[in-house]
Amino acid sequence: NLAERTRAGASRILVFVRLRPMAKKEKEAGSKSCVKIVNKRDVYLTEFSNENDYLRLKRVRGRHFTFDASFPESTNQQEVYCTTTEELVEAVLQGRNGSVFCYGATGAGKTYTMLGTVENPGVMVLAIKDLFNKIRQRSFDGHHEVNLSYLEVYNETVRDLLSPGRPLVLREDKQGILAAGLTQYRAFSTDEVMALLQQGNLNRTTEPTRANETSSRSHAILQVIVEYRTKDALDNVVNRIGKLSLIDLAGSERALATDQRTLRSLEGANINKSLLALSSCINALVEGKKHIPYRNSKLTQLLKDSLGGACNTVMIANICPSSLSFGETQNTLHWADRAK
Ligand code: ADP
Ligand code: MG
Repeated sequence: NLAERTRAGASRILVFVRLRPMAKKEKEAGSKSCVKIVNKRDVYLTEFSNENDYLRLKRVRGRHFTFDASFPESTNQQEVYCTTTEELVEAVLQGRNGSVFCYGATGAGKTYTMLGTVENPGVMVLAIKDLFNKIRQRSFDGHHEVNLSYLEVYNETVRDLLSPGRPLVLREDKQGILAAGLTQYRAFSTDEVMALLQQGNLNRTTEPTRANETSSRSHAILQVIVEYRTKDALDNVVNRIGKLSLIDLAGSERALATDQRTLRSLEGANINKSLLALSSCINALVEGKKHIPYRNSKLTQLLKDSLGGACNTVMIANICPSSLSFGETQNTLHWADRAK
């Protein structure tokens, strides 16, 4: 848990797995389930949907994984939010940065988990709702200001999703790395946020061939910046800023592809670049290395101040149950396992 991690001073990353329900289309196509979640922790990859010899699977390489928590199909958005992100919202109010990532193949449920729907809002919306509740409870104590930025990294190009236009240039100063000209949306209530983020998502890059579908190569980053101001007993101004980054990553399916010719040239290569750079940073953090290679991609540059060190980092690996995705699911679980 968070308290233990902070004491140890290490950059442990909390890793969760979320299994989405079987889609209607998959059911109709006669697709079988190949994932079982047991005791909200253990994930088993099975060959047959009726297989339940878990003791045997525990001994088979690549068939059994365990995480900080694993969410079965029936888990609702609120439960996912409370288990993965609530503590980070509390930490941001204390001026500590944090980040939550959704990782997984296209169609595995990343956007559902992060953004969700109007009826079932996801982590981004629930975090802001909770943030406003927590601020209301503290209204006697100082002044809080909440600003939102929503941006995209696509093809190593950074774009403002709240004010689409020319690509943004990253600048480094003493404070860290900034996207010059990025919109800071001053938020006063939760109600406006879902619409704002949905509109932002419509601005994500789409494939030329499928104009209505967000590109699987697009990373979306919501940054929630909370500034707190008060005066101490001697009338000195006290100021602290915390930043929470919530990231809907690009599809991981091409991340491990090695044959560059099978990738769509530049685009595919750049997805590799950002996801590979993120993987390298996470591996370096988990191994306690001194040098963390943030500079290798736009994504990791943008997240430099929110990843590792005193920051809280949470990974949600999204998987789908269909046996047709067995290989993809196994890749995602392997990746998540290395982030622990
Ligand atoms: P990704 O962003 O990883 O490509 P999506 O979040 O778009 O995947 O999910 C693919 C489809 O599955 C969407 O239609 C989405 O609404 C649905 N879905 C994903 N996760 C869940 C869930 N936990 N419960 C219900 N439907 C889900
Ligand atoms: Mg998506």
